[in-house]
Amino acid sequence: PGPQLPFDPEKKTLVILGSGWGATSLLKGLDTTDYNTIVVSPKNFFLFTPLLPSVAVGTLNARSILQPTRYVTRFKSRQVSVIEAEAKEVDPINKTVTFSDNSEIQGQVSSTTIPYDYLVYAVGAETQTFGIPGVKEHACFMKELHDAERMQRQFLDCVESAAFPGQSDDEKDRLLHMVVVGGGPTGIELSGELHDFLEDDLKSWYPELASRIRITLVEALPSVLPTFSKELIQYTESTFKESKIDIMTKTMVKEVKEKSVVLQMPDKSIREVPCGMVVWAAGNKGRQITQDLMAKLPEDQTNKRGITVDDHLRMKGTNGTIFAIGDCTASSYAPTAQVASQQGAYLARILALLAKKDGLEGKLAASDEDADTIRKKIDKIKLKPFHYSHQGSLAYIGSDKAIADLPIFGREWASGGVATFLFWRSAYLSTLFSLRNRTLVASDWMRVKLFGRDVSRE
Ligand code: FAD
Ligand code: NAD
Repeated sequence: PGPQLPFDPEKKTLVILGSGWGATSLLKGLDTTDYNTIVVSPKNFFLFTPLLPSVAVGTLNARSILQPTRYVTRFKSRQVSVIEAEAKEVDPINKTVTFSDNSEIQGQVSSTTIPYDYLVYAVGAETQTFGIPGVKEHACFMKELHDAERMQRQFLDCVESAAFPGQSDDEKDRLLHMVVVGGGPTGIELSGELHDFLEDDLKSWYPELASRIRITLVEALPSVLPTFSKELIQYTESTFKESKIDIMTKTMVKEVKEKSVVLQMPDKSIREVPCGMVVWAAGNKGRQITQDLMAKLPEDQTNKRGITVDDHLRMKGTNGTIFAIGDCTASSYAPTAQVASQQGAYLARILALLAKKDGLEGKLAASDEDADTIRKKIDKIKLKPFHYSHQGSLAYIGSDKAIADLPIFGREWASGGVATFLFWRSAYLSTLFSLRNRTLVASDWMRVKLFGRDVSRE
């Protein structure tokens, strides 16, 4: 089967893989009249990841930070096909992509292959486990929506099991010990959110247990948040100390068991620590499909961290037919939403210029009339390289406090505290993609202020 209708043979086919930060930002800026545009993603929505840890503790409802991809595409000038499917294989030589429907319900057809002229590869990354035993089996991740929902269920299950009559003190202490692995922004924000849940809600609903709950953050490096400025690292450490969140640096998790974590301490000794829940936030790793695609271009794609692109975000070795953006690439930029969305917006501009160029080249091939004029027009189309503009780093650290490293007038400005928290909230509220999401998130914050978080376990 060919691409889905409406198909215009005069236009090139643009296939976009993914519906995350990179792909959604591209879709927002793309002039869809230029292409037959097809979006393929196993999730038919965009997930606003910065607020995911808030979902994990019930501050926000899951639906408040999702935006169906069709809400974005329905406002475009020309129809876009949105297909809920997982890309299984990209063939960069024959320029095809194979995808299949992996959801619970499938129709008669659940797998197909389509051709593309341009492919935008924006499939993100998955959680890095380093092959450490027990991580996949026993730890919760914090990457996808279902990870946050799973963590919320597990956390409340630990609390309810600790409240079971006759539970020994040791067992209560185990069940109420939460271990967060990874002192990057995800681990820090999640620890802060867990602390808020404990302070604001569990103390009221489970007063007999609240004093027993412990949060430990384990980080292999000498300090947490290595990408933030020194003073904000210290500020975070002292806020965590006040919040009774233990930070264990220079400590590496070696194994996760059903009821404990095995740690390698700074002096290299091994210690097994009982716990009720482990949240794993130890960074990113390329998806299998990305590794498979790179393996097809062994001469150009040799970076183990991800796809190598040129300064126009073209995947090396694909003759400008595949663009790769966001967390699936290996570049000098950090794998952040900020980078992915700027890359998506840049590609929207580049694809508009390419459509113009391709159109003129088509005319040139069709007749030799005005050839010189057309050639001059083609020469005038200049594709500028991608330039990243860093807007600063922000993170929530719990207790209504946030930290921010902001470049202001060419200088780094560091701030932390309650005012920064208000800035954090307003910054994310305005970054949310739609008025609908802004309203939902703001009303969730209001709901929690008035009634507290919901402690019922689904
Ligand atoms: P993603 O946004 O992950 O999107 C990938 C898309 O590809 C998804 O839609 C996925 O469903 C789809 N996909 C997966 N496999 C396939 C396949 N086989 N075929 C087709 N589609 C596929 N960054 C910041 O800048 N600021 C923050 O505050 C911040 N907070 C974060 C908080 C958390 C908890 C997490 C996990 C990350 C956070 N990040 C933040 C990082 C940010 O989310 C990522 O850098 C960003 O999502 C990368 O965008 P992307 O488009 O490359 O990938
Ligand atoms: P990360 O890669 O930033 O941090 C993971 C941490 O886990 C590292 O410090 C690493 O040393 C540690 N680690 C790995 N294995 C370990 C082990 N076995 N034992 C103990 N520690 C171990 O990952 P992240 O926090 O998920 O962030 C991923 C990306 O998303 C980053 O680019 C980050 O900037 C971005 N992000 C940004 C924000 C924000 O700006 N607020 C929030 C979340 C994520």
